[in-house]
Amino acid sequence: MSTIFGRIIEGKLPCKKVFENERILAIEDIHPAAPVHILIMPKKEIRDLQSLKGDDLHLIGEIVAVAQKLAVQLGIEDGYRLLTNNGPGAGQSVLHLHFHLLGGRSMGNLG
Ligand code: AMP
Repeated sequence: MSTIFGRIIEGKLPCKKVFENERILAIEDIHPAAPVHILIMPKKEIRDLQSLKGDDLHLIGEIVAVAQKLAVQLGIEDGYRLLTNNGPGAGQSVLHLHFHLLGGRSMGNLG
C-alpha cells in the first residue's frame, strides 16, 4: 500500500492501536488536536470518501459502530466529533480514507 496508513496497516510502521478487526483499524493520532483523537480507517486501500462505492459502502457503518464503541470506552459519548477530510482541498494530508474521532474538550462551531 502506498500511504503512511497503508504501511501501518501492513505492520511496517508502528502505531498506538485502539481497535482492530479484519476490516477496520483505529489508532491514536500522532499529533492529537484534542485530548481524545483517534483515526478510524478501513484496512482496504481507499483514497477518500468520494472514492467509496458499491460493496465498500458498508465500511462507513462499521466505522460509525467502532466510533460509538470507542466513544463509550473513552468517556466522550456525550460530546464528540466524527469527521473525514475529503481531498487536499479539505485538508486531507494522508490519501487513505480515515475518520477523526475527536473529544475530551469543547469543540465549538466548525470553521
Ligand atoms: P488528514 O489531514 O485528515 O489526512 O489527517 C491525517 C492525520 O494523520 C493527521 O491528524 C496526522 O496527525 C495523522 N498522522 C500522520 N501520520 C501519522 C502516524 N504515523 N500515526 C498516527 N497519526 C498520523
